[in-house]
Amino acid sequence: AFELKGKRVFVAGHRGMVGSALMRRLAREQADLLTVSRSQIDLRDQAAVNAWFAAKRPQAVFLAAAKVGGIVANNTLRAEFLYDNLAIATNVIQAAHANGCEKLMFFGSSCIYPRLAPQPLREDSMLTGPLEPTNEPYAIAKIAGIKMAEAYRSQYGSDFISVMPTNLYGPGDNYHPEYSHVVAALIRRFHEAKVSGAGNVVVWGTGTPRREFLYVDDLADACIHLMKTYSSPELVNIGTGEEITIAEFALLVAAAIGFRGEIGFDTSRPDGTPRKLLDVSRLGRLGWRAQISLQEGIQLAYRAYLADSRWTAR
Ligand code: GDP
Repeated sequence: AFELKGKRVFVAGHRGMVGSALMRRLAREQADLLTVSRSQIDLRDQAAVNAWFAAKRPQAVFLAAAKVGGIVANNTLRAEFLYDNLAIATNVIQAAHANGCEKLMFFGSSCIYPRLAPQPLREDSMLTGPLEPTNEPYAIAKIAGIKMAEAYRSQYGSDFISVMPTNLYGPGDNYHPEYSHVVAALIRRFHEAKVSGAGNVVVWGTGTPRREFLYVDDLADACIHLMKTYSSPELVNIGTGEEITIAEFALLVAAAIGFRGEIGFDTSRPDGTPRKLLDVSRLGRLGWRAQISLQEGIQLAYRAYLADSRWTAR
């Protein structure tokens, strides 16, 4: 088992949705938490990252910093999604290795699996077929990070592990109307429609794709569990094991928010990958399962959205 207590623990990306959930969860671990602000250290800057690691010498690293976004952001900002994520992964993993870090967790994503891989997606289906084109740059960067963690383990014996979260949502999400993920997008759109009294809300695509959604505090809990107990080159999927169509999901959000109008579908918008359900049997064998139901999570996320002055103070 790996102890977090008393260790210098670096959360890269601590202001993001995943990083801030890790910070909330790590508050219970009596660790010495290290963070850097974006204005202080640009994680794409190799020299700056190396200098910071040499000075602070973190003993454990959660590599949750990334450029992220929904289907349109991934598909539009293709160069940035590839460059930023590749640079962050290579810089932080190499600096961790060079500065005596004892344990590192790299965050991949369910989009690293081939578009048409058998469902539910098993960890061993990585690199068995072509990727979903809308998020290929992001996926390629994440696959490179996974392979780096694996290579440092096999060449140097570093205890670097990789986890693959499913679609995440919760406090700290990005509610940008064009670039957000679907959960944030629909919370905002249904809320604004309710407030303005609009009778119709438009959902992108056909409504038929299926997705699995995990509340980010559940993810953070799983990560702390794995950081303490897991040591292997094999990836670990983190999800709920349950999926829902986008159309059904839209109904759940509408009900949670109290929107009673009509729901339409804009089929000029991309559907993305048809299904993306993780096989979570490995995670289950490792002794963890999700606690927060989708209904409960949507309520919690909606409350966090209403309280988030970045998006609702107008
Ligand atoms: P993905 O899982 O990587 O495709 O990421 P998203 O969260 O962006 O999209 C998930 C699914 O929700 C896709 O099928 C989208 O077409 C659908 N969707 C429906 N309405 C929206 C919306 O307003 N924003 C986003 N981002 N996706 C939406």
